[in-house]
Amino acid sequence: MKRILVILTGGTITMVRNAQSGALHPADVDTFKAFVPELFAGNMEVEMLPFSPLIDSSDISPTNWVKMAKAVAENYNRYDGFVILHGTDTMSYSASALSFMLENVGKPIVFTGSQLPVGVLRSDAKENLLSAIEIAAETGADGKPMVPEVTIYFEGSLFRANRTTKKNAEHFEAFDSYNYPSLAKVGVHIQYRPNFILYPEANMPLFTHLHTCTDVAILKLFPGINETVVRAVLSAPGLRGVVLETYGSGNAPSARWLYEALKQAVDKGVIIVNKTQCSTGTVDMGQYDVARNLLKAGVISGYDITTEALLTKMMTLFGEFPNEPDKVRHLLSIPICGEMTTTSNNL
Ligand code: ASP
Repeated sequence: MKRILVILTGGTITMVRNAQSGALHPADVDTFKAFVPELFAGNMEVEMLPFSPLIDSSDISPTNWVKMAKAVAENYNRYDGFVILHGTDTMSYSASALSFMLENVGKPIVFTGSQLPVGVLRSDAKENLLSAIEIAAETGADGKPMVPEVTIYFEGSLFRANRTTKKNAEHFEAFDSYNYPSLAKVGVHIQYRPNFILYPEANMPLFTHLHTCTDVAILKLFPGINETVVRAVLSAPGLRGVVLETYGSGNAPSARWLYEALKQAVDKGVIIVNKTQCSTGTVDMGQYDVARNLLKAGVISGYDITTEALLTKMMTLFGEFPNEPDKVRHLLSIPICGEMTTTSNNL
């Protein structure tokens, strides 16, 4: 019998409506279980690990990521797969963070949540939860886990976690993976796409990276952005890494002051990574003159990475290797767990 651990962190999926006030609040585990009795009557052993308190994902911080990573690591040998219930607002950040914090993942770790609370009749909670559990328990013909990755399952699609972005606050289809195909499609049957799934090369033990660093920033360019604002961000005390959100294929204004501000920050040791503001496509700093300044200033390419993945990758790497900037710079320029494609792809 397969054993699945469901870790509850909070979010809409864990909420029920108070009959008197009508307000939403997190359910206790027994109330939550009562909404999904099928979970405990099937051919799987499902156990629940609720965090205390359950929180809205707007309140998630790296401390919570560490708690989630530890919960998986400490229970890793006792379960076949893990489902993490999480609010949708910051799910892509948490799930991306876990993909970097957990090295050599060989079992499914599936994040899911819902747009409507579990206690609402039309809720998407049940389907998301039941499918996530089935995916977490699935094995291939060789008896090994079908999707041994950190993923997000939502409304019919299974995505690699560090490729996702929350795209919709209204529709049930809340997530997308713009630059990488889904790993499975869920309809009447679950259709897995093994060609796109990362399988571990050898049976390596799980390794955790539990240190994070928050000395990072996102600097989004816009027409008219001024020098004072850019310099204020780049001179933040202790700053180590910047996600520079640029135009199109990685372009930026050609203003001399911008080049100088970026170059001075890089020379001071700040690592700046170029991430396009476009959802789809990749950074290519060789394409236009207006990107060459960035190259000259020492900005490195983030290729087709998401902001969520780039930011959490930086936070994990700076946390794990605080005194090895060259190593961090190198690891930021290559994919370490499927989070970006550095060669041209026509997916
Ligand atoms: N605000 C909620 C959260 O992220 C929204 C949700 O779960 O969908 O926790």
